[in-house]
Amino acid sequence: MADARSITRDGLGIRVSINPAIDGGSPVRATLLPYGRQAIDDVDIAAVVEVLRSDWLTTGPKVDEFEAAIALVAGTQFAVAVSSGTAALHAAMYALRIGPGDEVIVPTMTFAASANCVLYQGATPVFADVHKDTLLLDVASAAARITPRTKAIVAVDFAGQPCDYRALRALCGEHGIALVADACHAIGGSYQDAHVGSLADLSVFSFHPVKHITSGEGGAITTDNLGLAQRMRSFRNHGIMTDHRQRAENGDFYYEMTSLGWNYRITDIQCALGKSQLAKLEGFVSRRQQIAARYDESFASIANVEPLSTSPGLSNAYHLYVIQLNLACLTTNRAGIYRALRAENIGVNVHYLPVHLHPFYRTRYKTGPGMCPIAEDAYEGILSLPIFPAMTDRDVEDVIQAVSKVLAYYRR
Ligand SMILES: *Cc1c(COP(=O)(O)O)cnc(C)c1O
Repeated sequence: MADARSITRDGLGIRVSINPAIDGGSPVRATLLPYGRQAIDDVDIAAVVEVLRSDWLTTGPKVDEFEAAIALVAGTQFAVAVSSGTAALHAAMYALRIGPGDEVIVPTMTFAASANCVLYQGATPVFADVHKDTLLLDVASAAARITPRTKAIVAVDFAGQPCDYRALRALCGEHGIALVADACHAIGGSYQDAHVGSLADLSVFSFHPVKHITSGEGGAITTDNLGLAQRMRSFRNHGIMTDHRQRAENGDFYYEMTSLGWNYRITDIQCALGKSQLAKLEGFVSRRQQIAARYDESFASIANVEPLSTSPGLSNAYHLYVIQLNLACLTTNRAGIYRALRAENIGVNVHYLPVHLHPFYRTRYKTGPGMCPIAEDAYEGILSLPIFPAMTDRDVEDVIQAVSKVLAYYRR
């Protein structure tokens, strides 16, 4: 097959192979372009160094400053910063008093942490299906899974696009259940002119290096509910009502533990980096949107690849740029396309294996194929292309060239 498909041009007397790299051609680029990467500059580094020379490495003033900056971006009264996005999800479940016997509805097309947080509290995640064109939670599927035990819905802003919060709020209001946004992909986005972070009772962010802004590791929850914010502040510090700095400021040694919490504190070192990064969020998001627009434009004319669609009335923050392959018209499967693009030095990835198909859930919670058919079907054909603010225009064109070369080669 390789020979039959091999194409050469010799109009100028030189023979240029346009075979894909996986079949003996030369790769589109010499070095691997990752799917995501942090952008750290000298201002970020100086902010971290300043903390290292200060009195407070953790539980200090940078935590408050970072939280205030997050609340501003989210348009909420409160933000609670913790050690990771996963800790933030756990804190959200704790604050809502999710416990044994309770059910929480989670879309299956997400990172496992969106569902694992339910298990940390001894409750049961119930997986809902997604829309084919956006891979966002299908509100009708969530509604069909509500039972008297349902306590909350976790909505995941997959790839950076906010979910249908108008419909979700109506559904949750009708049943008296809480709405949590896993907004780990969507900081800086908006929905009907409201900021991501203000769209649910609690919204969760991650500051892992592949996300929009980073603190190394880190996470936060935003809310307008003071009681929930207080519960989460105590939860990140062993269930103790005061922290070390509050006691130092009051000249007091006495503290009480009033519930069982964890050590989910974030350091001032991380918060200094996070705050410095957050100041650049707007520019980061608009560069991501610019790259996505260029991809959209190019893929409109490339056969057998369909980008996810974005609904009107919202701003997609594009943590990921996901394409769906038309497998019926290709001579290989997604793994074949993945390998071919990797050989071109394009760092494609797959987000995600639906959570209900992970062996842990299948064996322990008896989940499996057939429970969320749209997500299961979509999984077979999805690929995430590189998208991050520091990508050059040349990097973007490399991705487009590689995708078009590889898909033309495998066209049925
Ligand atoms: C990254 C991510 C998390 C977990 O965040 P960490 O900071 O890595 O713990 C949770 N949910 C989603 C959708 C994510 O993308």
